Amino acid sequence: MRQSQLFMPTLREAPSDAEAASHRLMLRAGLIRQLAAGIYTYLPLGRRVLRKLEQIVREEMDQAGAQEVLMPALQPAELWQQSSRYEVYGPELIRLRDRHEREFTLGPTHEEVITALVRGEVNSYRQLPMTLYQIQTKFRDEKRPRYGLLRGREFLMKDAYSFDADWDGLHRSYMSMYEAYNRIFTRCGLHCRAVEADAGSIGGEGGTHEFMALADIGEDTIAACNACSYAANLEKAEYRIGHKENNGPASQKKELERLHTPDIKKVDQLVEAFGLGADAFMKTLIYTADGKPVAVIVRGDHEVNEIKVKNALAANNLELADQETAERVTGAPTGFAGPIGLNIPILADHAVLAMDAGIAGANEKDYHFGSVNPDDHLANAQAGDYRNAIAGDCCPRCGQGRLTFHLGIEVGHVFKLGTKYSETLNAKFLNGSGTEQPLIMGCYGIGVSRLLSAVVEQHSDSNGIIWPKSIAPYRVHVIPVSAKDQAQMDLALHIASRLQEAGVETLLDDRDERPGVKFKDSDLIGIPIRIVVGKHAAEGIVELKLRNEAIVQKLDLEEAIAAALK
Ligand code: ATP
Ligand code: MG
Repeated sequence: MRQSQLFMPTLREAPSDAEAASHRLMLRAGLIRQLAAGIYTYLPLGRRVLRKLEQIVREEMDQAGAQEVLMPALQPAELWQQSSRYEVYGPELIRLRDRHEREFTLGPTHEEVITALVRGEVNSYRQLPMTLYQIQTKFRDEKRPRYGLLRGREFLMKDAYSFDADWDGLHRSYMSMYEAYNRIFTRCGLHCRAVEADAGSIGGEGGTHEFMALADIGEDTIAACNACSYAANLEKAEYRIGHKENNGPASQKKELERLHTPDIKKVDQLVEAFGLGADAFMKTLIYTADGKPVAVIVRGDHEVNEIKVKNALAANNLELADQETAERVTGAPTGFAGPIGLNIPILADHAVLAMDAGIAGANEKDYHFGSVNPDDHLANAQAGDYRNAIAGDCCPRCGQGRLTFHLGIEVGHVFKLGTKYSETLNAKFLNGSGTEQPLIMGCYGIGVSRLLSAVVEQHSDSNGIIWPKSIAPYRVHVIPVSAKDQAQMDLALHIASRLQEAGVETLLDDRDERPGVKFKDSDLIGIPIRIVVGKHAAEGIVELKLRNEAIVQKLDLEEAIAAALK
């Protein structure tokens, strides 16, 4: 391909609102352009990379025995009502009407559609197991579309669904996808880690793992043990509850004391006012779970884990109560809530219950109580794990190591659904003994477009992108230093056509630009191998440089071609 003809609008500067390094680079290198928030066009270079990613995904899915289909993006709302997700999915689900006022959605995922398809076609255990997949555009009206392709509202996903006759079968299908995912991410050049995750709105009773690409921009926090292989999304991360180690300062059981704390509402203000560590306080937050108020109490140095709370309450929706509700149930302005005198369900974290005593809000403006002790004042609370794990917590798996924290981008997700969808959508089959039973399902997603950004996030330097060979838009960049120099152009053309003939995708920078501009663009778009044809062209000598190395090798023509073919 001649660069003079390539639609590759590079930019010197990225727009100031592009926060993520990958977003800036992809705009600057002319891979994508934004149409609206979270909605992008792929320009030729971006499209090429995307196709390579799709191809790797396809090969590994096929290799794992999955079969490719393509389902519609436009889905009747009725299906979503049948699975009861029409409401639960919330505002992320894009809803629309056709000319007959029938309701439709633009699919954010395809559990409903695939289950409806399979229920009509599969009716015997003899047709199982079966895994179907597609690579298709998904729509989610994300609250905060951002970071370019990392969180889009229209994005490309590979979604696969497995159907089995029993749970052992599901486990095999799941592991086969899990292993395929490891191969896919390795082939794409990503450093990834599979972590235990929360089931979220997809639901289902089995296990689930997320594949996280480690990156500073990652929106997910991963807790990993420094001694064993335990790793989990912070949403889900557990820890071993120690007997002593989570205890607050020991003290004798004392009478409750009413403490005057004017305008002191936050833990750090309390820490300053009392000269005590944050672990001496009990932090009370008022939430509404499916509309009903509940109080959650964690130690002052801990954070509430809303997913754990939501799961413990089996609630569909959990949010911090608005000020009015919080004031109504506590009788005090926010900042003074505490367990004593509350008439709503109280959830107290294990670490709070392990305290001998602590300071908590008094449900009265400008007052806290001292010497609140769990035996007397939290006797009716529901005990549980309601807090986020923190660095240094004891590993729940091996009990030896400590948890460390990392940031990651979720690029893939594997999920044991069980019978959640086959039951609600009535997808049954006859098992070996002739009894009707619901299909056992799994679902498996990869954010193919997100993957593109994740790779750039992990593979760049201050000059631009550094593509792994497996997904680079072109493998070789041939650059004549001066396009006006006939000897240079002739040799460059010769090399480019030799490489093309050998099936190597080659970009030839035939533009009449200054060498500095050409090299800058070349670094920016990050093609793995660069062959520069300069003043020794007449002798057949060129320079070869790899994008990820600093060394420049002077080679003769044949050596350079051989190196590029390797
Ligand atoms: P997240 O927690 O990041 O919102 P999710 O749990 O909603 O992800 P899934 O429903 O499991 O994601 O979707 C499967 C895969 O699709 C994810 O692992 C991710 O790689 C990708 N994905 C999800 N939402 C987006 C998005 N808004 N933009 C790009 N890719 C996405
Ligand atoms: Mg999401």
